[in-house]
Amino acid sequence: MRCGQDGCDNPATHRYTWPGKDEAGVCSEHIERLRDVAASLRFHLQLIPVTDDTEHASCSCCDGCGQIADSDDGEPWSQWESLPAGADMAVRLGIVSPIPCPECAS
Ligand SMILES: [Zn+2]
Ligand SMILES: [Zn+2]
Repeated sequence: MRCGQDGCDNPATHRYTWPGKDEAGVCSEHIERLRDVAASLRFHLQLIPVTDDTEHASCSCCDGCGQIADSDDGEPWSQWESLPAGADMAVRLGIVSPIPCPECAS
């Protein structure tokens, strides 16, 4: 997701919304101004940190997705989720299941 404020092309660090508005992205540079705008319009600004942005994956264990497979290798669950249909048989049979990442899941 990109910021989109004034045509800004930075990766969004947060999603935001207020009543009547569809969710959009905002980057760390524009977030303060957005707060000011919402405050001056008396909108209730809701900010949601972007956690599914793999460009900013910070956890080497789960690649930032927050879940790992309970297999021997414990690979990031996003790898299993992105498997094409037919290749994910182990998941569908329940042989491999997601568990919270031991490194970063709270
Ligand atoms: Zn921006
Ligand atoms: Zn993790």
